[in-house]
Amino acid sequence: MSTQQRRAVVVGAGVGGLAAAGALARDGWQVDLLERRPQIRAVGAGLSLWPNALRAIAAIDPAAVDQLRGRNELQDMVGLRRPDGRWLSRVEPSPAGAEDADSAGAADAFTVPLMVTRPKLYDVLRDLVPAESLHLGRTATGVDAGPAGAVVRTDGEEYPADLVVAADGIHSRLRTSVDPRTRTRGAGYVTWRALIPPESAPALVSGSETWGRGQRFGCIPLADGGVYWYATLAHADPRYRADGAEDLPGLFADWHDPVPRLLGATPPDRIIRTDIELLWPLPRTFVRDRLVLLGDAAHAMTPDLGQGACQALEDAVELATVVRSAGPGEVPAALPEYDRLRRARTTGLARQARVLGLIGQVRNPLGARLRDRLISLVPANKASRSLTSPTTWEPTGVRS
Ligand SMILES: Cc1cc2nc3c(=O)[nH]c(=O)nc-3n(C[C@H](O)[C@H](O)[C@H](O)COP(=O)(O)OP(=O)(O)OC[C@H]3O[C@@H](n4cnc5c(N)ncnc54)[C@H](O)[C@@H]3O)c2cc1C
Repeated sequence: MSTQQRRAVVVGAGVGGLAAAGALARDGWQVDLLERRPQIRAVGAGLSLWPNALRAIAAIDPAAVDQLRGRNELQDMVGLRRPDGRWLSRVEPSPAGAEDADSAGAADAFTVPLMVTRPKLYDVLRDLVPAESLHLGRTATGVDAGPAGAVVRTDGEEYPADLVVAADGIHSRLRTSVDPRTRTRGAGYVTWRALIPPESAPALVSGSETWGRGQRFGCIPLADGGVYWYATLAHADPRYRADGAEDLPGLFADWHDPVPRLLGATPPDRIIRTDIELLWPLPRTFVRDRLVLLGDAAHAMTPDLGQGACQALEDAVELATVVRSAGPGEVPAALPEYDRLRRARTTGLARQARVLGLIGQVRNPLGARLRDRLISLVPANKASRSLTSPTTWEPTGVRS
């Protein structure tokens, strides 16, 4: 590798951009991280970080995972219910250590997902980025990236770079320089989510998700006694209001316990409401010359698997690995490996999340009955394993 200083410009200080800037800086890159907002702002309540995400963070800095760990590990999610409370599918506890003893990840430290608050995650990731790298209130307006070099433009300034990372979110401005064809679209449903702190949360032994017709509700106890819950409603439901004026408790008033109790225990100002969007089709490539797409800019997916931010963290680690030994002139030749490592995996997960969301949101009574019948025929442990199999991912650098 050449000893010449390598320069990276990362656009967007969300989960993906912070992690990428941190990982590259640790490898000796001179990093400029441009964020359009005047401060780093985490939007949203909590975020589930699955073992794959924790391994990615640990690959950047193991101490960062220790800072995230608290008493808010997610506890068991045991199955799928109907609105009347009957179980459609329920995971039976296996004899200790018997199940999955040989599966990847079972032997490492990361077997339990963490529920972290977004501000906490942002604080931890921000600490990975050198203070002088962070430029707040700086909007990237365009990029010229070719085989010989790259430059990112903002209002009034230009940042030359050997590598440009577009981590500017689902509505990425830089994405058109990689693939102008990709579009965002509505997923056809709205979500609500909240964290109830231990002092006001109803006691919950285990978590579950409940599927109605065009409506879902999930709740998961946290190790500290708090509860994380989320709810969805199809846009096609006449009770949906584009202006957000739905009667949320009313939507779930006749659902099984503890659904109405959880909604009743949550102050309205703690509830985050989001109309879900996704990127589809995904870009045909994540790379052009010296420019790469990362995180939601590359593969914004529906939250049905809870993997969007986890994938942004994986992207960051794999990107740093593929350019680790590349000199400034060798960056374009190194980047196709990032595309190879990341595009197939994230496309598969985005598709899986979308399909799961569509199945969960079925409104037609006949379709919903058929769905419920089919679910009850699949052994629950098998279904659960197929949903958690993506979380066995490990960074390329540590694979044997
Ligand atoms: C309801 C819901 C629940 C979710 N739950 C989970 C979960 O449990 N687990 C999980 O892993 N994922 C979850 N996700 C997905 C997760 O939130 C996203 O995938 C993740 O936050 C994407 O991070 P990012 O850094 O790629 O993009 P973003 O967080 O969107 O960050 C992009 C940043 O770029 C900045 N920016 C944009 N344009 C410019 C510009 N031109 N110049 C400079 N800066 C710019 C923005 O201000 C922003 O700070 C959920 C999503 C939703 C909607």
